[in-house]
Amino acid sequence: MGRKFFVGGNWKCNGTTEQVKKIVSTLNGGEVPSQDVVEVVISPPFVFLPLVKEALRPDFHVAAQNCWVKKGGAFTGEVSAEMLVNLSIPWVIIGHSERRLMLKESNEFVGDKVAYALSQGLKVIACIGETLEQREAGSTVEVVAAQTKAIAGSRPCVSVVSFVTCLDVRFVGYFMYRTLTVTGLKDCICFFYKSKVSNWADVVLAYEPVWAIGTGKVATPAQAQEVHSELRKWLQANVSPEVAASTRIIYGGSVTAANCKELAAQPDVDGFLVGGASLKPEFIDIIKSAE
Ligand code: PEP
Repeated sequence: MGRKFFVGGNWKCNGTTEQVKKIVSTLNGGEVPSQDVVEVVISPPFVFLPLVKEALRPDFHVAAQNCWVKKGGAFTGEVSAEMLVNLSIPWVIIGHSERRLMLKESNEFVGDKVAYALSQGLKVIACIGETLEQREAGSTVEVVAAQTKAIAGSRPCVSVVSFVTCLDVRFVGYFMYRTLTVTGLKDCICFFYKSKVSNWADVVLAYEPVWAIGTGKVATPAQAQEVHSELRKWLQANVSPEVAASTRIIYGGSVTAANCKELAAQPDVDGFLVGGASLKPEFIDIIKSAE
């Protein structure tokens, strides 16, 4: 199944009105492959979203860098998913490591945010990735699997014991009754999902090793491919073969015009989430690596 290349530009907390206009003008003048080949999504800070959306070429789209975990209200300083929808912002980045680490956003909180944003009709770039310590301890796959699990929801549970566990009141709201087959007194097969992702077509998974973000230390193509391939296997085993085959898994962490081609050539690297280089003209060359 073909996965359209995806390039996101995360401007983080950068820019003045003048700088934003200049970057948009550079993007608008760039020659890039058509929308059939690459999907480009630019993520400025909240305050510049309307300006960028208005001025940006129509074949590029915009994303917010975060949104609140539930319906808006008395949450000073937050921006709700409903507000983004109201402004016709189609995408949102959720779970960026800078928020996970500095603002202590847990896997569960990130999973809840993804679920709520999707429920409001937003498309989500969901970020995951291990720290250097975790990589050196050999737990990269375990860490990204746990982060992905919190986003995806739990796997189907089989057996009476799992059935009872599934009814844990903390989670009961998420479970959807699927099938119940009683084959005897002892055997009972139940499929319950803690269903957080309703439509995987609206999710792009961004693997961003923390040690590579903003450090200039890019993962090697082999390192990126290894983790992306493990993530696809995880989706196959825990969600479905169809979702595993169709979900875009993009790489982020010190991607530049100089290193993007080799990374893009990896079979399971379906694009990039770019930080620092997305503020520079070389972002156009990164988009071109889709070809
Ligand atoms: C990011 O912020 O998502 C990122 C990947 O940053 P950088 O490209 O600067 O490492």
